[in-house]
Amino acid sequence: MSGGAPGAIEADVVVLGAGPAGSVAALNLAPFRRVLVIERRGLPPARTGESLPGAARRLLADMGLWEGFLADEPLPCGLRRSRWGGAQAVEADALSDPDGPGWHLDRARFDARLRATAVARGAALLCPAEPRTIARRDALWCLDVAHAGRRLPIRAAFLIDARGRAARPHPALAARRPVDDRLVCGWIEAPAAAAGGGSAPSLIEAEAEGWWYGAHLPGGRRLLAFYTDADLPAAVSLRSADALLERARSRPALAPLAAEMVVGAATGICAAHTARSERSSGPGWIAAGDAAFAMDPLSSQGLFNALYSGLAAAEAAERTFQGDASAHATYARALHDVWQAYRANRSAWYGLERRWAQAPFWQRRHGSENA
Ligand SMILES: Cc1cc2nc3c(=O)[nH]c(=O)nc-3n(C[C@H](O)[C@H](O)[C@H](O)COP(=O)(O)OP(=O)(O)OC[C@H]3O[C@@H](n4cnc5c(N)ncnc54)[C@H](O)[C@@H]3O)c2cc1C
Repeated sequence: MSGGAPGAIEADVVVLGAGPAGSVAALNLAPFRRVLVIERRGLPPARTGESLPGAARRLLADMGLWEGFLADEPLPCGLRRSRWGGAQAVEADALSDPDGPGWHLDRARFDARLRATAVARGAALLCPAEPRTIARRDALWCLDVAHAGRRLPIRAAFLIDARGRAARPHPALAARRPVDDRLVCGWIEAPAAAAGGGSAPSLIEAEAEGWWYGAHLPGGRRLLAFYTDADLPAAVSLRSADALLERARSRPALAPLAAEMVVGAATGICAAHTARSERSSGPGWIAAGDAAFAMDPLSSQGLFNALYSGLAAAEAAERTFQGDASAHATYARALHDVWQAYRANRSAWYGLERRWAQAPFWQRRHGSENA
C-alpha cells in the first residue's frame, strides 16, 4: 500500500466487505496485487449457524484453506430429515452424494479465519471502516473512507463489492437490486441442556405459513430457525424467543430439539429474501457473494456461492490487470448460470409442497414468476 495523491492510500484492488466472499477474493489476489479490504465491523457478527455442502471441500482445498477449516472443528452433517410435501418424514443420507457430507459451522469462527488468512497472505485490512463516498475518475476508484474518527482518501484501480445481502446498491455500481420476496428468519441458538457435541440429522419442516430448520451445531449448541414472510401473521412469532419456542413445540419433528434448549438463548431476526443486483460487474468493478445475488437459505448454497464467486472475482480481476478484455463477460456468464440453476431449483423445492396451496406463503412461491 502506498500514498500517491497527497495523503491518499493507493491500492491495486479495494475490496468492500470482509465476509466470506470479500475475504476469499482478497486472499486469492493478495499474493499478486496490493489489496485493501474495508470492513465496517470490527469483528465478524454473531450469525445463525450455517451449513456448507460437501462440494465445498474441493474449493477450500484448491485455495489452501482445507487444513484451517478442519482445525475449527466443523460438525459433519450427513443426514437430513424433512417433512416437506407430506406428513411423513423423509431422510436423505449424504452417503448417496458424490461429494459426501457437508458441515455445520461456527460462522463467526469461519469468517474470522478467512479474514485472518487474507491478512496473512498480504492483504491490508481497514476496520471498522466504511466508505462515505465512492466515485470513478480517470479510470480510478476514489473512495472517502470513515475510519477511527477520520476520513481517509483511497485510490484503487479495481473494486470488488462484497458487502453482502443488506448492501444498498451504490449509484457508482449496480443501480438497482430487485427483491423477489419478503422472506425473514427468526432464530434461536442455545447450548443443549445436556450438552452433547455429536452429529444429528438436520431437520426441515414445512407448515402453513413458512418452514422450519433445526440442527445441532459445533460446541454442543442447538439451532432452531423459522422462515416466513414479513407481512404474514406468523411473523409476530419471530419477535420473541418464547413465542418461537412455543410454535416449535407444536411441530412433531422440532419439539424434541426445542425441549433441549435451555433458557438464555441467543436470538435474532434477519432478512432472508432473494435479491439480485441488476449488474454483477462494470468497468473496473465486480460484485461477489450476496452483493451479486442473495439466495433463499432453503438452498443452503449462499456460503458456497460466496466462496465460489469470491474466487472467480479474484481471477477476473487478475485477468483484467493482464489485459484480458473478456474477463468480465466470462465472470458474468458464470454467475448467470448459477442464478438460473438456483431459480429453477427454488421453484422445484417449493413446488413439492402442496398441502397449503391456498395459503399466501405457498401461493406466492407457486406462482409462475418463480419459475
Ligand atoms: C437466516 C440465514 C440462514 C442462512 N443459512 C445458510 C446455510 O445454511 N448455508 C449457506 O450456504 N448459506 C446460508 N445463508 C446465506 C449466507 O449467510 C450468505 O450467502 C453468505 O454470508 C454470503 O457471504 P458474503 O461474503 O457475500 O456476505 P456477508 O457474509 O453478508 O458479508 C458481507 C460483509 O460486508 C460488510 N459490509 C456491509 N456493508 C459494508 C460497507 N458499506 N462497508 C464495509 N463493509 C461492509 C459486512 O459487515 C460483512 O462483514 C443463510 C442466510 C441467512 C440470512
